[in-house]
Amino acid sequence: MMISKKVILLGKYGVGKTSLIRQYVYSQFSEEYLTTIGVKIDKKIVEINGVTINLLIWDIAGESAQVKVPATYKMGAHAIIYVFDVTRPATYEHLKEEVEQLNSDLPRVPMWVVGNKSDLLLENEVEEVKAKVPVKTDFMTSAKMATHVADLFIKVAEHFVNHVK
Ligand code: GDP
Ligand code: MG
Repeated sequence: MMISKKVILLGKYGVGKTSLIRQYVYSQFSEEYLTTIGVKIDKKIVEINGVTINLLIWDIAGESAQVKVPATYKMGAHAIIYVFDVTRPATYEHLKEEVEQLNSDLPRVPMWVVGNKSDLLLENEVEEVKAKVPVKTDFMTSAKMATHVADLFIKVAEHFVNHVK
């Protein structure tokens, strides 16, 4: 069996959305800002329990999670990965409102909340951030060190396999 799923990344500018995709799909990382112009779609095929999942991973340039994201970006999304930067409170302090807004814009679309750049903090500092973030964080990642990056995308793919009709 083969299924195709649209996964969108959201989150403020510079949190590492493009870097996470780049690490997962191409096993690469760059210190440069990776300018995303418009929308880019990367494809990754994952095989779980005999199911082939064609992940279509959407990436967009932009400041904010919702305001400047065109409707077509979110339309038909099967999963949301919301990324914040563990070193910048401004990228997570209003997360509760952002998540509520997304849940109302995209009802029943599962979302994973990800704190990225964990390599820039000590382990106990990462835990402190996790306690401060207003919503439950699903993964603490480092796109740079590849920490929990594959875990994240595989979790999303597993969700699709477990929810095949
Ligand atoms: P985007 O705007 O959300 O797509 O963010 P980018 O992927 O362009 O990353 C913004 C900046 O953060 C770039 O300079 C990246 O090299 C850097 N960056 C992204 N992820 C990480 C990470 O996990 N650790 C560190 N140290 N830097 C990161
Ligand atoms: Mg980007």
